Amino acid sequence: MEIFYSPYSLRPKQTLNAVSDETERKGVLLKVIWEKGLVGYADLHPWPELGDDVLEKQLSDLRINRISPLVKQSLWLARKDAELRSKEINAFDLYNEVKNNFLLHDFKLLQPGFLANLKNLGFTTIKIKMGRDLAEELTALDQIVAAGFKVRLDFNAVGTPESFKKFIDKLSPSTVLAIEYVEDPFPFDSSAWLEAKSSVKIAIDNQYEKVDWQNLKIAPFDVIVIKPAKVDVMTAIDYCQRWNLKATVTSYMDHAVGISHAITIAMGLKEKYGDLILDSGCLTQASYHTDPFFAELESQGPYLQKVRGTGVGFNSLLEALPWLPL
Ligand code: MG
Repeated sequence: MEIFYSPYSLRPKQTLNAVSDETERKGVLLKVIWEKGLVGYADLHPWPELGDDVLEKQLSDLRINRISPLVKQSLWLARKDAELRSKEINAFDLYNEVKNNFLLHDFKLLQPGFLANLKNLGFTTIKIKMGRDLAEELTALDQIVAAGFKVRLDFNAVGTPESFKKFIDKLSPSTVLAIEYVEDPFPFDSSAWLEAKSSVKIAIDNQYEKVDWQNLKIAPFDVIVIKPAKVDVMTAIDYCQRWNLKATVTSYMDHAVGISHAITIAMGLKEKYGDLILDSGCLTQASYHTDPFFAELESQGPYLQKVRGTGVGFNSLLEALPWLPL
């Protein structure tokens, strides 16, 4: 196996969540050659703020065959991509499209007519990143719920059980009803999460590794957020089946190649597991200034359109990149 990489940076339009205030996000695309004619691509986009090793360490570890969880997933995805490319199959042609939530990355977008327009486009669920300015977030939440959307709220585990309870107590019954789930309300703690789960549905995302899955008796959450860029997908599905949970597949707020991988994984899982798989959260490209790869992603309302090419797409752009040997 031969590995090449191509560095890139993404420019966020604004602060992406409560744990990051970076102006530029760096990652690399990986090109993996297993044998002649078996070449696949994947993204590697660490979030050190969420516990990943920094990019340089991911790469230096890979050079000595020490495989991080992110690299393991990148290689898995690259292999899937390689197999499809070798047969000249586009991953989007294999399954039906799946619906995505709308990621509201900036409350300034909430101008008159904005939500009505989203509704016309076919969106039914809006995801909000919480924990930056609660007053502003509550106002936005009221507007969104009044417009008839379901909501997914992501606290990125920055709160406390007390601050979360205070937040819930501030909500009207109709708002509580509109919450599909709250993601990572505060750092994982089995009994405190179980308590939180009594008022709203809870999803686990970046706290996933904190769970002692082997000894877990009752799951203190209802949904697992599966990021194919980071977690072993079939293990997570197995957990969902074992504890009767649902799953949401999302991108890793990463490069367009990562988005294309995530959505096609979501499509395959939806086909196989049906109702276990909720709407996805892969339309994260609008959080960044566009680039030639993002420009290839076209969505029609909540649906990402097929990306041109074979595998997860982008053939000519990928071929034109400078590739450095690992
Ligand atoms: Mg999250």
